[in-house]
Amino acid sequence: MKVFVIIPAAGLGTRMGGLTAGAKPARVTAASKQFAEIGGAPILIHTLRKFEAVPEVSEIVLALRGDDPAGFKSRLQQEGLKKQITVVEGGEHRQQSVANGLAKIEAAPDDLVLVHDAVRPFVDAEIIGNVIQAAVRHGAAIAALPAIDTVKQVDRTADGAVVVSTLPRARVVMAQTPQGFRYDVLKKAFDDAQADGFQGTDEASLVERTGHEVAVVMGSPQNIKITTPADLELAEFFLAQEQRRR
Ligand code: C5P
Repeated sequence: MKVFVIIPAAGLGTRMGGLTAGAKPARVTAASKQFAEIGGAPILIHTLRKFEAVPEVSEIVLALRGDDPAGFKSRLQQEGLKKQITVVEGGEHRQQSVANGLAKIEAAPDDLVLVHDAVRPFVDAEIIGNVIQAAVRHGAAIAALPAIDTVKQVDRTADGAVVVSTLPRARVVMAQTPQGFRYDVLKKAFDDAQADGFQGTDEASLVERTGHEVAVVMGSPQNIKITTPADLELAEFFLAQEQRRR
């Protein structure tokens, strides 16, 4: 069994390219955050190193913007990773970027495909291993954390949000990545979503709507999705912690 990893890293626009943790723009854009540097290397490089270190991973497919933002391809060569890395062009939405990656993979039905956000560099080998194991067992699995805050469903009105209901917290988890799937399960989910014009914010939502069960394994509070300048500060802190543990 092979394990492929697709990393969507093709957000549009480069307004915050070259950002470092010391800089403080109003907001880190979705476009640039994967190329922001922590500890002297782009976030995406840190993320790739995590999967490079997992022996089960056979190949990594990276979805990048066609015009090579932030000169990332030469940075990638410089990194000299041993695993095969295939670069595909990203799409207009994250889902299209992952679909482009999936189209490039030559997999058997029972091979595994993991999808992981470029901007979650603090994933660890234990979470990756647990997602792989659960995906082998169930066909689909995600890393997630129990909800700490009470989660409200709201209606958006011109006057702001209004609470419609409170979701029972014990039945809520916050989805992270990696999300892992048997190739045949994920391929069918993408084909169905495309046929129906469905856009999801993660891959599991595409699989759920096919009726296939999705298992949940424990994620981690460190496995954050770096989104704002405050997250970059936190990322520097987590990186220093990681380096101390080594
Ligand atoms: O949009 P969101 O913050 O959820 O993005 C998660 C990941 O998806 C980011 O790493 C981003 O680069 C990637 N993405 C992509 N193609 C797009 C939009 C986002 O690969 N068109």
